Amino acid sequence: MADLYAPGIPARVTDYANSVKKKFEDNATKSHVRERKEAPGDLPVLPSGVSRANFNSAIVELRKIVDGHVQLVDQPLDDGWYLHRPVTHDAFPLDGEDYFVNSAVCAPGSTEQVQAVVQWANKWLIPIYPISMGRNLGYGGAAARVKGSVLLDLGKRMDKVIELNEKSAFCLVEPGVSYYMLFDEIRKSGKDLWIDVPDLGGGSVMGNALDRGVGYTPYGDHFGMHCGMEVVLPNGEVMRTGMGALPDSNTAHGSANTWQLFQYGFGPYPDGIFTQSNYGIVTKMGCE
Ligand SMILES: Cc1cc2nc3c(=O)[nH]c(=O)nc-3n(C[C@H](O)[C@H](O)[C@H](O)COP(=O)(O)OP(=O)(O)OC[C@H]3O[C@@H](n4cnc5c(N)ncnc54)[C@H](O)[C@@H]3O)c2cc1C
Repeated sequence: MADLYAPGIPARVTDYANSVKKKFEDNATKSHVRERKEAPGDLPVLPSGVSRANFNSAIVELRKIVDGHVQLVDQPLDDGWYLHRPVTHDAFPLDGEDYFVNSAVCAPGSTEQVQAVVQWANKWLIPIYPISMGRNLGYGGAAARVKGSVLLDLGKRMDKVIELNEKSAFCLVEPGVSYYMLFDEIRKSGKDLWIDVPDLGGGSVMGNALDRGVGYTPYGDHFGMHCGMEVVLPNGEVMRTGMGALPDSNTAHGSANTWQLFQYGFGPYPDGIFTQSNYGIVTKMGCE
């Protein structure tokens, strides 16, 4: 079950990419789809300590929270590829086994829905794992570190460039904004801005910064160039970092708002604990 759509990838590159991919597929000696070893009644695989009855009840509740955007991982595992990234499992397991397999995938559509999903996970004691686009394939892609986790595919519905500011040269993005999308948004706006990218443009700008990824220009330290985060904490509360923590720090950017202008704010600087950590789910991020 790979995604049938290619999030964050513009139409101008998909035809060419698909034609190249087809050449590889035509010569492939190994199927990219793996049948499940488990009996149908044992699918989806559940996280340790969660009964099937509880899981099923929890999923009914989850569907209501995220407007029905829930998919169970109970089908054969399709490795997909970079454009149609697998959101179900690790397509490149080191030991060849299907250990890193999710139980379900949900796609929240707002920060409020992410908060509700976190509270849902606490209530049912079900592990969750967030991705932005899940294209860091060499590091496990969209597969959670705990077998049977529910994946939060943030990028699927939360994919807006909220602000593109030419005067102060920053943007405020949601998890599903890829480098391609940000580039296209800048071109469309006609603003005199440019971006730093890693090797491939289909990853998330936010996901890459949270992974402490690197690009090629003097702005290549992507976490170093972030400015302000909105984070859903493990108890479901929302925290904004830097100047975003101050009163009047709404995303409408009133005159008093300096959320994307000064990274450090006042007092302790907590942003780093949300990188390579999964200590919180980042729902908005500013980038310089
Ligand atoms: C062939 C190839 C070449 C690449 N070259 C480069 C390169 O040159 N430089 C480079 O830096 N990268 C490189 N990458 C990595 C790629 O750029 C990243 O995959 C991408 O930018 C990160 O975004 P993502 O959406 O894929 O991250 P994801 O896979 O979604 O997430 C990465 C990690 O961050 C966590 N995370 C993601 N979003 C959130 C969130 N909103 N809140 C909390 N935690 C979150 C995830 O749990 C995961 O652990 C390459 C990847 C490939 C496949």
